[in-house]
Amino acid sequence: MKLITIGKTSATLLLLGQLLSPAYAQGQPPVAPVPMQKTQAPGYYRMMLGQFEVTAVSDGTVTIALDKLLNSITPQALRQRLAANDLSTQVETSINTFLINTGEHLILVDTGSGPLFGSNGGRLLDNLRAAGYPPEQIDTVLLTHIHADHSGGLVHNGKLALPNATVYVNQRDVDFWLNPANMASVRKSEKHTFAESESSLRPVIQAGRLKTFSGETELFPGVRAVPDPGHTPGHTLYMVESAGQKLLLWGDTIHAEAVQFARPQTTINFDWNPAQAAKARASVLADAARGDYWIGAAHIAFPGLGHVKALVEKPGQTPAYRWVPANYSLAGLK
Ligand SMILES: [Zn+2]
Repeated sequence: MKLITIGKTSATLLLLGQLLSPAYAQGQPPVAPVPMQKTQAPGYYRMMLGQFEVTAVSDGTVTIALDKLLNSITPQALRQRLAANDLSTQVETSINTFLINTGEHLILVDTGSGPLFGSNGGRLLDNLRAAGYPPEQIDTVLLTHIHADHSGGLVHNGKLALPNATVYVNQRDVDFWLNPANMASVRKSEKHTFAESESSLRPVIQAGRLKTFSGETELFPGVRAVPDPGHTPGHTLYMVESAGQKLLLWGDTIHAEAVQFARPQTTINFDWNPAQAAKARASVLADAARGDYWIGAAHIAFPGLGHVKALVEKPGQTPAYRWVPANYSLAGLK
């Protein structure tokens, strides 16, 4: 009786050992470790806007030190906002661009940083190809403004990266950033923008591919430029409309999602005119919340598509908002 019990126990132990021991202990050849990939999926996300197809295309990210860059907020309030969003003061910030296929035009809004930012930026061309649109197919580029992370992708290695595109930008940004006489009027940390603007825009001008506009302008059916100065002199939003649906592409209305929705008065050192930028943000947020249309934002976590909701106000409080990111959708592409 005792022997039988021992036998059963041994068999059970042997079976357990086979289940738990690694393959090499069972006489099989060793398995090499599988290398980690350490890459992200291609950075694009699509949605339909009426008859238009919208593709958010990632240029990558840039890490910015919000404690050094944000103004009109106390260090304590900043820490609280960042902690509430599980962020440190060094925030890895998305650089998003938006491609609109209207059926007649292939319009890219902003071009990312190209070679001008670190190795985590400049991914636009690869991601465009991954999204099924070779850069040569793009016929139109709309710039929200001239800053390295929006216009830097126009030129790679001295050549036009989007060789068949006509580039549209607000005349006021061209007048400002391509004239070195204005260098004296910006803070020291922003002076590099003049050389960067020259390297990104001059080849476009020389190729005869730059077009400028002034004031609110319908550039294509369903695509309207809405100047919104403050962040730069010619900072412009683009309203895209099809079959009753609206998407407003923001450029740099928001740099720090974790902070500036709750505190729209918070400005950033990149602002050309901080007071005007804050005022512009307050009115753009209020309108977005009222209108409940789609927003596409350059620096909200990729894909940067979503809606703005107003937080309940108490009397005397500055209006505050929250961001509602797009719900991931496949069915919406049908
Ligand atoms: Zn920007």
